[in-house]
Amino acid sequence: MSRISQSERVAVKQRVSDLYHHAEGYFSRAFATPEVTFRRSGRNAGTAFLNQNRINLNSALFMENRAAFFSEVIPHEISHLLVWQLYGRVKPHGKEWQHMMEQVFNTPASATHSFDLSPLNLKTFRYRCGCDVIDLSIRRHNKILKGQRYLCKRCNNYLTAE
Ligand SMILES: [Zn+2]
Ligand SMILES: [Zn+2]
Repeated sequence: MSRISQSERVAVKQRVSDLYHHAEGYFSRAFATPEVTFRRSGRNAGTAFLNQNRINLNSALFMENRAAFFSEVIPHEISHLLVWQLYGRVKPHGKEWQHMMEQVFNTPASATHSFDLSPLNLKTFRYRCGCDVIDLSIRRHNKILKGQRYLCKRCNNYLTAE
């Protein structure tokens, strides 16, 4: 199990808070501070839950790539939340998100991270909807093989194997 220490949690909260202050200054408005959770979540480094105003950071990858989480992953996921609050349903890594990353946070806007995923020791399967690429766990992949279908809530397309 990956345990995230209390001091790491405080550091992450501070980073999130700094990014929000920066965005609030840029847009001259307030944003509700998001919740941050640390759970293992497939091979994604981070995930933004737009309706919950929450970001999840993959605890196993966080431990191995701490610096990249602070410099890239946290701004990446925070940008998803802010874009959602500002513009609603737009392309996940579209021009609004890129603007947030590059102009507001001065961070290179690359949609993916190149982490060594070996700490996860996970086998995943790459699927695609109409708007994104998604890595599914072997459990979900097996369900699809048995006929289950998964719908992307953003673009309303069924996931298909890439
Ligand atoms: Zn993203
Ligand atoms: Zn989609």
